[in-house]
Formats: sequence, structure tokens, C-alpha cells
Amino acid sequence: MSMNRRLNFFLLLLLTACAPAARVVALPEAAATQFVVAAEPTATSILPLPTATLIPCDPAAEEFCIVEGNFIFQNPLGPDPVLAIAGNYSYGSTDEGKREPHNGVDLQSREGAPVFAPAPGLVIFAGTDDKTRFAQWADYYGNLVVIEHEEGLYTLYGHLSKVHVRAGERVSGGDVIAAVGHTGIAVGSHLHFEVRTGGDVTDYFSTQNPELWLALPEGVGALSITLDSKTNHKIQRKLVIWRYFAGTDTLQETYYASTYPKGFEQNKEDSVLSNLPPGRYRIAFTDSTGLHERMVNVEARKLTQVVIKLK
Ligand SMILES: [Zn+2]
Repeated sequence: MSMNRRLNFFLLLLLTACAPAARVVALPEAAATQFVVAAEPTATSILPLPTATLIPCDPAAEEFCIVEGNFIFQNPLGPDPVLAIAGNYSYGSTDEGKREPHNGVDLQSREGAPVFAPAPGLVIFAGTDDKTRFAQWADYYGNLVVIEHEEGLYTLYGHLSKVHVRAGERVSGGDVIAAVGHTGIAVGSHLHFEVRTGGDVTDYFSTQNPELWLALPEGVGALSITLDSKTNHKIQRKLVIWRYFAGTDTLQETYYASTYPKGFEQNKEDSVLSNLPPGRYRIAFTDSTGLHERMVNVEARKLTQVVIKLK
């Protein structure tokens, strides 16, 4: 080895010795009880309005489209991965004409269970609705909390037994804000949860379907169905949806749904089903013009959008 080569070799050794070992960044282990907090929205972030992702399908050109969706809110009942949404009184349901059109979802829980902020925000109302109304009727929600997450995007929590926050208070995602109860007009203890958008936060119908906003548990997807008519008049129609065993025409499960009734004209879509296992589905309904059917795919943690053009 020449002098030069020896020097080079020595330098190489020295460099190798000094070079820092590839750093392994240990990821914090996700504890079973850890509550995943949504990223703080910033002034520059784009408000993920449903209009940004709903109805990108051209019903004349595409059967359906699969998009990421706006599933930005954590489960307000905490880290439980299951969204226990009451199926008999889903968003837009009138429970076969027996009740008021439902402008939120009912999450099944026990009296006194903690309610968590599903994302950071500002509490704009905390108390009873005997004087300040968020519905056409007084004492409808009982004790309630309303949080503004970004300008024009609110969540509302009704029938609470206890309220742990005050108007004007900032909350982080995962903060305990209240306890589940049955105050106001409630059948048993549960959490009534709403997502409100649009101009007037006190307007009962200024809501979006929470199933388009609540983070989807692992391994399930969601389906939004829009009946594209010139008038956008909301008429309750019965839908039937079949799921097939993968790669076959054998029926695996049947789902029944209704489209939104009158009063939900601000909602672009007409029906949403979430918590659906991925797979192949057939949507069908009949109206005065005949039978409408569509085959679609549902993917985990994605939103499948279907637009069915009505004559
Ligand atoms: Zn409810």
C-alpha cells in the first residue's frame, strides 16, 4: 500500500468510525387507551366541506367514485373503535314517520360516560336549551355543548347529564367535555351527536350527516347515495342494498335504508351508510319511473359515492 493509499484508507476508517449510525426513531407505542387527536386546524387549512368531495361523479359517465372523504372527527365516546350508531333512527330518519326527522346520530352509551371533544375547537355554547334554542322546540336537547372547529363547522352534543366546559373555552381533541345523559327529549341515555355547517348554527336543519365526518373504524368503509333530480326535492324513498361474497353473485347481507325527507335540502346526498365491510354491493330502489339499480365497490376507510340520475 502506497503512502497515499494508506492515508486514504486511514481517512476512510476514520470517517466510518465518525459517521453516525443510522438513527432508529422509536415510534411511541400506541396504548390501547390512547385517544388519537386530530391535527389542529390552522388558519391556512382548507375547510373540508362536503361539497369539496361530494358529487364529483358524473352520473352519465361514471358508475361510482371512491374518494378519501372527510372523516376528520374522532369518536366522541372515546377510543372505543366501534361507532355504536343507533340504526333504527339514523340521520334523516323519521323512524317510520313516528318521530321528528333526525338531524344527528344517536351513539349508544351509558349514563355518566365521558364525552370527548372529537377535534380541537372553541366551545360556543354550554348549558340548557330552555332559552337559547338549537331546535324549533325548547328543552329539546336538555344540557348541550356546541363546539366550533373552524369557521362554519360545528359539532353539537345533546341530552348530557353533566357539562364540564364553558362557552369561550378552547378544547383540544380528547378533552372530556361532558357526560352522557338523557336530559331534554331523550329515550334512555345516549349521546346525540350532530355536525352543523352553513350560516345559522341555531338552525335545526343546518346539519350534515355525521356518518360522513366521524373517523371510520379500521376495516370498514362508507357509501353515499345521491338521487340526482332537477329539483333536489327530498322525498323519503326506501332503498335496499345487498352485499355479495367476494367474486360471487351469492348474497351475503341485506341492508335497508331511507333517503332524507323534506327539510334536508341543504344536504347534497340523499343517504349515507357507514361501517360497511369492503366488498361488492348492489343498490336498488323503485319509483314511478321504474327500477333503479347500481353495482358499486366499497373500500376500507374510503367513501364510495354514487349518483343515480332520476328522469
Ligand atoms: Zn338523537
